[in-house]
Amino acid sequence: MRAFAEREIRPHVREWDASEHFPIELLPTLARLGLMGVTVPAEYGGSGLGYIPYVIAIEELARVDGSVALVVAAHNSLCTNHILLAGSEQQKKKYLAPLAQGEKLGCWSLTEPGAGSDAGGTRTTARFEGNAWVLNGSKTFTTNSHYADICVAMAVTDKTKGKHGISAFIVEKGTPGFRPGKTEDKLGMRASNTGEIVFEDCRIPRDNCLGDEGQGFIDSLRVLDGGRISIAALSVGVAQGAFEASLKHSREREQFGRPIASFQAIRFKLADMATEIDAARLLTWRAAALATQGKRVTRESSIAKLFASEVAVRAAGEAVQIHGGYGFIKDYPVEKFYRDVKLCTIGEGTSEIQRLVIARESLGR
Ligand SMILES: Cc1cc2nc3c(=O)[nH]c(=O)nc-3n(C[C@H](O)[C@H](O)[C@H](O)COP(=O)(O)OP(=O)(O)OC[C@H]3O[C@@H](n4cnc5c(N)ncnc54)[C@H](O)[C@@H]3O)c2cc1C
Repeated sequence: MRAFAEREIRPHVREWDASEHFPIELLPTLARLGLMGVTVPAEYGGSGLGYIPYVIAIEELARVDGSVALVVAAHNSLCTNHILLAGSEQQKKKYLAPLAQGEKLGCWSLTEPGAGSDAGGTRTTARFEGNAWVLNGSKTFTTNSHYADICVAMAVTDKTKGKHGISAFIVEKGTPGFRPGKTEDKLGMRASNTGEIVFEDCRIPRDNCLGDEGQGFIDSLRVLDGGRISIAALSVGVAQGAFEASLKHSREREQFGRPIASFQAIRFKLADMATEIDAARLLTWRAAALATQGKRVTRESSIAKLFASEVAVRAAGEAVQIHGGYGFIKDYPVEKFYRDVKLCTIGEGTSEIQRLVIARESLGR
């Protein structure tokens, strides 16, 4: 993974970020490496690996480019994993192989303009009409929105039942009434694609309801348990990239006649970064190991995601500081780590929401 990221991604990182280029040309290679269906069992065309190889892969991609890691994480952990967790045998057979083999790219739409942290406030509707589901509404902030071939989207099927009235649906690109809307112009992760998804009287076959009717929101929470492990891994990768750049710069940069690495103030920053990144990685691997064993990881994935993302934001900030003025310009990699990493404390549940989850899991309510 490291050799691949260094060879095929590193040379393009700055240009892709500047031009917001979505690296679609990488997908066949990512697929050949088994990265498009890492945890999908071989019987459905996947790599059949557990979460540990998956988090190592995400970390290694993010160490070089957070955007590529985010594209892969959204495809694997959100879209593909929702179908794996909740799909019927027929849905798994139909959709998992093309997703896992990289023939199709996936996206997952839960968030709406009025339903972010409070995703249960979903307004997009799906009504059953003449043997088909008809979807209306719009989703926001969907990763891979404009490039995805398969979208898993949540919509209200019974508004009297609150969170138990939200269902999940599989929508294929090209379905009339289904289209991407506005593309977001972002602070970071600029080579990943984030945008709106619009449903206008979008008719999809009855069989494309994913999981039991009314179970879509509950299944989404299970999907996010896995997804948060990948955001933790992504955080560790960005932090590791920022740390390594800081080691290099502090050895090379001389002030007052000696390398800045000889100053205790810089050494202490590097020591804190090393310690926190190791701790974040171990929390991520613990959650990954438990997920591989099929255990419930709500608490462990939230802890890993909260800690790793906040560590990574700190590490990227210290990396800029260690670089001084050079940390503020685009000739050096750390300003991009600093911009990219902020997403990790927001996406798949903000740090505040992780704290609510961890407290609830600890208190039992
Ligand atoms: C680049 C990017 C990619 C994304 N990809 C996807 C995707 O693929 N699919 C998808 O469905 N979504 C995606 N999201 C959406 C993301 O998950 C949401 O942005 C996130 O859950 C926060 O929701 P929000 O933006 O509406 O913020 P809000 O919910 O409006 O939160 C605003 C602030 O209020 C705080 N807050 C809210 N409620 C509480 C509370 N109860 N207690 C304490 N504090 C609270 C939050 O922590 C935050 O600080 C993406 C977002 C971004 C930026």
